[in-house]
Amino acid sequence: MKYLIAGNWKMNGTAASAKALASGLAHKTGVSAAHADIVLCPPAPLLPIVAAEIGQGLIGLGGQDCHANEKGAHTGDVSAGLLKDIGCSFVIVGHSERRADHGETDAIVKAKAAAALKAGLTPIICVGETEAEREAGKTATIIARQIAGSVPENATAANAVIAYEPVWAIGTGKTATTDDIAAVHGQIRNLFNGEGKANLRILYGGSVKGSNAQAILATAGVNGALVGGASLDLEDFWRIISACP
Ligand code: PEP
Repeated sequence: MKYLIAGNWKMNGTAASAKALASGLAHKTGVSAAHADIVLCPPAPLLPIVAAEIGQGLIGLGGQDCHANEKGAHTGDVSAGLLKDIGCSFVIVGHSERRADHGETDAIVKAKAAAALKAGLTPIICVGETEAEREAGKTATIIARQIAGSVPENATAANAVIAYEPVWAIGTGKTATTDDIAAVHGQIRNLFNGEGKANLRILYGGSVKGSNAQAILATAGVNGALVGGASLDLEDFWRIISACP
C-alpha cells in the first residue's frame, strides 16, 4: 500500500507563500521520485493558487473541511462539490480543531464525510482522544465512539482515509509512543466496517516532523501522516515524505 502524506496548512499562509511552497514541492517531486502520495490542504482561498503550481501531476489537492449540504444558505462554508470542481481529490473532516472550535459532533463529521464521498472526494476522517481522556484510560472508548459515529456506512478502504490524531499531540511537540500508535491504529483497523480493511490507509498525526517521521512511519499499522506545522516548511515536509518506507 502506498503511503499518504497530507499537509494541513491550517489557517496559515499568503498568496505568495502558498505559491512558493507549492512550487518548491512540485519541483522536488519533479527531480526525485516521491516515496508516497502527497496531498496539500491549504486554506480554501489558496486552493486555486496551489492548484496552479502543482498542475495535474504527483501532488494532490485537498480541502480542510466541507459542509454536509450540497449548496445553499451556509455563509462562509464550502461544499464538497465545489472542492471537487476546483481540483481537489481529498478533504479533511472532523479535525479536532473543528470539533473543538465549531462544536462538530460525530454525526456532523459523518454527514460531511458522506457529502465528500457523494462528491467523489476522499475524506480524511480524523479521530483522537484528548489528554484528559488518555489519562483517564478512555482512549479506546473514545476512538470506538468516534469511528462508529464519524465513518459513513459506504466508506471503504478505496474511497476513505482515517487519521489518528491524539489531540494532545497536535501542535504541541509531543508525540504518542510508537507502541500507543500501533495499538490505536490496530484498533481502528479492527473497527472499520468498510470493504477492504487490510488496505485502509490510517494516517498518524500529531507533531510529526522530519526528525521523528522515520520511527512513526515505520510503526505497525501506520500508512502515512497528517502533518500540520512541519508541512509549512518545505525542507522538513520533504524529509517526512522521504522517510516513507
Ligand atoms: C494537524 O493539524 O493535523 C497536525 C497534526 O498538526 P501538527 O503536525 O502541527 O501537530
